[in-house]
Amino acid sequence: MKKNLQTLCVQAGWKPKKGEPRMVPIYQSTTFKYDTSEEMGKLFDLEESGYFYTRLSNPTSDAVAAKINALEGGVGALLTSSGQAANFFAVFNICESGDHFISTSQIYGGTYNLFGVTLMKLGIECTFIDEEASDDEIEKAFRPNTKCFFGETISNPGCRVLDIERFAKIAHRHGVPLIVDNTFATPILCRPFEWGADIVTHSTTKYMDGHATQVGGAVVDGGRFDWEAQADKFPGLTTPDESYHGLTYAKAFGKSAYLTKILAQLMRDFGSAPSPMNSFLLNLGLETLHLRMPRHSENGLKVARWLEAHPKVAWVSYSGLESSPDYALAQKYLPDGQCGVISFGLKGTREDAIHFMDRLEFVAIVTHVADARTCILHPASHTHRQLSDEQLRKAGIAPDLIRLSVGIEAVEDIIADLQQALDKN
Ligand SMILES: *Cc1c(COP(=O)(O)O)cnc(C)c1O
Repeated sequence: MKKNLQTLCVQAGWKPKKGEPRMVPIYQSTTFKYDTSEEMGKLFDLEESGYFYTRLSNPTSDAVAAKINALEGGVGALLTSSGQAANFFAVFNICESGDHFISTSQIYGGTYNLFGVTLMKLGIECTFIDEEASDDEIEKAFRPNTKCFFGETISNPGCRVLDIERFAKIAHRHGVPLIVDNTFATPILCRPFEWGADIVTHSTTKYMDGHATQVGGAVVDGGRFDWEAQADKFPGLTTPDESYHGLTYAKAFGKSAYLTKILAQLMRDFGSAPSPMNSFLLNLGLETLHLRMPRHSENGLKVARWLEAHPKVAWVSYSGLESSPDYALAQKYLPDGQCGVISFGLKGTREDAIHFMDRLEFVAIVTHVADARTCILHPASHTHRQLSDEQLRKAGIAPDLIRLSVGIEAVEDIIADLQQALDKN
């Protein structure tokens, strides 16, 4: 029986048998016991599934990954120790030294650095393209060694909406998968696989957790991309892995080849595994995700409307506003709400923006976003300090951009706090 998202948030993942705990237990153990060495050997050969070491898999983390997989509608998911690790694994799983990939430039600052600087040091080159570029311009960015296309459903912090269907078509025309970072939308507001995406990633640190308790990430495999049809492009999946006694992922694991490779190779070698305790905390957040996302979106739209009408506000970017250039895309991909993140700029100087933020009472200045508590950040002086003005503009971030993450408090109180701080400006 196919379940609704609301039911999956509460019920998916952990399925206790008779006498087992109702709540997913925290398997706070590095290792797991077997009776014979043969039993253990089969696990290492990937012939049987089972737990042996928490860097590779852990029952608590697996149950929570299964819930995220059910919500996204994939063939399998894996939790990582952070969203950064998730995006690194998602790309590095199919790109190696000498390869190239394409990303939209409207992405999270940390991802921008990872793609533009750190992956470059590993010999992997990224071309950033503007989401508004024409199909022709995007087509020109593809090269024979291009291996994937990357974008964010709702970009952080610019709040632009990705035209998933369009980018999936372009990527598929060139025989490569589309990877979508679905952190801000969450599967409650958008399920990228339904629009043609092949791989979905998350920083679970944000709405999925929702309470600012753990840093984590996830990679979900949609299982639709035909790796063998593009065998020359993806030798890592279609030729024997010498580090795994000659196993060929696409042959041995079919639809979940991509995910198995991340687990067996990247997680084994890089070790960005979440702690079981953090997976447990993430699960608590997921149990109410379906209640929080509509409320974040409702409050977000009210605050965006209020800001837009305020004489001291220069501009507002929120795709739920009719004035947004992404309004039509939002109606298509995010019809149930556009989350609680808004970016806006104030009239006046950069100092005016800083004074406004310092005067807020409960709306807190924190390096965080997508939390139950309303919070605010000035990317140019906080998260994106490393980027030059030119890079900032490319990433769709004006130097005066303020990122407001609207929480689930009473919206009247949120507006009142913004009002009192603006009044004194
Ligand atoms: C925060 C964020 C990341 C990075 O995640 P961490 O959990 O902080 O490592 C990646 N993508 C998006 C869209 C984010 O908002």
